[in-house]
Amino acid sequence: MSERVPVEAGVFTWPADEPRLLGSRCTNCDNHMFPVQDTCPRCSGGETETVELGRTGTLWTWTVQGYPPKSPPYAGDADPKTFEPYGVGYVELPGQVKVESRLTVNNPDELEIGMELELVLVPLYTNDDGAEVVTFAFAPTAKAASL
Ligand SMILES: [Zn+2]
Repeated sequence: MSERVPVEAGVFTWPADEPRLLGSRCTNCDNHMFPVQDTCPRCSGGETETVELGRTGTLWTWTVQGYPPKSPPYAGDADPKTFEPYGVGYVELPGQVKVESRLTVNNPDELEIGMELELVLVPLYTNDDGAEVVTFAFAPTAKAASL
């Protein structure tokens, strides 16, 4: 198995069998933020701590990215001939924050607002060193897939 590396440091726990996104919690008003932020947009407080966010959430809204996004910043396959459409959604982590994320599902028939999702890591591309670069995505839980 080739080496795996995270697409960006400090976005999710690494390495981890059960990855979690890293966010911030405001120590003044308990607001949760993603990604990590130094100041709280809710109360303007400047005291935040880095926390591991919940692994599961519900789909709040979604779309399907049907063509390669502008690259950079997009780091995956941007060749229109081989690009594979992917789902993008806002996932609500209960009691915490809504996170914009890639989804593992790109079939609109398999996406439903309110469905239960869990965090996974997916391969994005192979870098010049031959390592597999991974990013985070949300996948339907076994429970959601059986509905
Ligand atoms: Zn705050």
